[in-house]
Amino acid sequence: MLYIDGQWQAAASGATFAVTDPATGKVLDHVADGGAADARRAIEAAAAAFDGWAGLTAYQRSEKLYAAYHLMLERREDLAKLMTSEQGKPLRAARIEVGYAADFLLWFAEEAKRVYGQTIPSNRAEQRFMVLHQPVGVCAAITPWNYPVSMLTRKIGPALAAGCTIVLKPAEQTPLCAIEVFKILDEVGLPPGVVNLVPTSDPVPVGAELLSAPEVRKLTFTGSTEVGKLLMAQAATTMKRVSMELGGHAPFIVYDDADPKRAATGAAMVKVLNTGQACICPNRLYVQRGIADAFIAALADRIGKMQAGSGFTEGVQIGPLVDQPSLEKVDRQVRDAVAKGATVVTGGQRLTDGPLADGYFFAPTVLTGVTDEMVIYREETFGPVAPVIVFDTEDEVLAMANDTEYGLASYVYTNDLGRAYRSIEKLKFGIVGVNDINPTGAAAPFGGVKSSGLGREGGQDGITEYLDTKLVGLSF
Ligand code: ADP
Repeated sequence: MLYIDGQWQAAASGATFAVTDPATGKVLDHVADGGAADARRAIEAAAAAFDGWAGLTAYQRSEKLYAAYHLMLERREDLAKLMTSEQGKPLRAARIEVGYAADFLLWFAEEAKRVYGQTIPSNRAEQRFMVLHQPVGVCAAITPWNYPVSMLTRKIGPALAAGCTIVLKPAEQTPLCAIEVFKILDEVGLPPGVVNLVPTSDPVPVGAELLSAPEVRKLTFTGSTEVGKLLMAQAATTMKRVSMELGGHAPFIVYDDADPKRAATGAAMVKVLNTGQACICPNRLYVQRGIADAFIAALADRIGKMQAGSGFTEGVQIGPLVDQPSLEKVDRQVRDAVAKGATVVTGGQRLTDGPLADGYFFAPTVLTGVTDEMVIYREETFGPVAPVIVFDTEDEVLAMANDTEYGLASYVYTNDLGRAYRSIEKLKFGIVGVNDINPTGAAAPFGGVKSSGLGREGGQDGITEYLDTKLVGLSF
């Protein structure tokens, strides 16, 4: 179903599309297939609702977000199960994601009340300056399938807190989770038109309608760099504000003073996060020569023991990849690396035994001898493959780590304060984890530099992305 102007409804065309379980290939449900006409109605509803929503007090908007936070936690188990069915991640990870998603609602319920302004002294005695922050207006949100609940609240939370209204287009692979999030928003009693949902099997016409609409003042997008660039160009025609959370190619640097086992445990855990389908997953693991053998052995041991399967099976750490093209991409990268001289230490192929045959499973893999001629060294993998590169010096590894168009997450393992500090300063990335594989949270500004994006989500910065600055000069 679409959710437009406070009503659940079919698409104008009457069309629907199928949603499948990536672990079994089975159809889970059919969803209304929105088109450009539906997007237009949603934009009009959001535009009509804007003045009323922006005109409420921050306390009133905040109340709705608190209510949505509590309701989401009440529904945690059902939402997590749906997510495992639709997206494939292990149930335990799905539960964690719902908690993370709810955290954004809570954080921005609090931030709504902290949109402060400023007064600035003037050099003219009879003048004062004042700075106000006001909601940008109607926002278009386009979200990915890899975190099908938290990537929605990370945008909806700050938009609503700031006083914006929103039209959201979820990924075609995961509209069911989006519908459940919108049921929560509906139940907490948001005024009609404040939030609108347009699922579609074809993002192009809906995207074009959202991006060409003069009423839409901001685009917030999470997805691939390729699509992000395309959307940013479209947004330029009406000069929309943009926030972009795009791809990554995270380096994971292990210096020789670090404990190789501890570093390998961290690397293995963050590598298989969401079956490798997270933009902060490491894509190049650099280990200093002195501890390379110990690190690789510990990593291969850990990754090789990971169990793949349905996210509903207890103990499974590796779910399916989201679809066939994703599986083929991972397979192609591994084949390319092996053809160019890489060694498969563990894994390296598709998993098709027994019940895995119908899903999109790839074995958790460690590759060594990876070089910059291999596709995997440059392209984001989005799968459970850990490519290892041995290095000698700090300068060399920092230069290699920065030799990418991406700039989202990076990781450093060391116990040497100087090395840690120099690495933090020199890494051209929006996020650096030092002996830390989880540098994220609703209170922290998440985002990248270079081709990884623009703007920050979460933290104090999160809400400013949805606010315009107004300067007032006052003379008397
Ligand atoms: P991924 O490769 O991870 O699936 P995409 O960037 O293709 O990432 O998808 C992220 C989001 O962008 C999804 O909601 C998808 O439907 C949407 N999308 C993809 N292409 C377009 C487009 N041309 N216009 C608007 N949205 C798009």
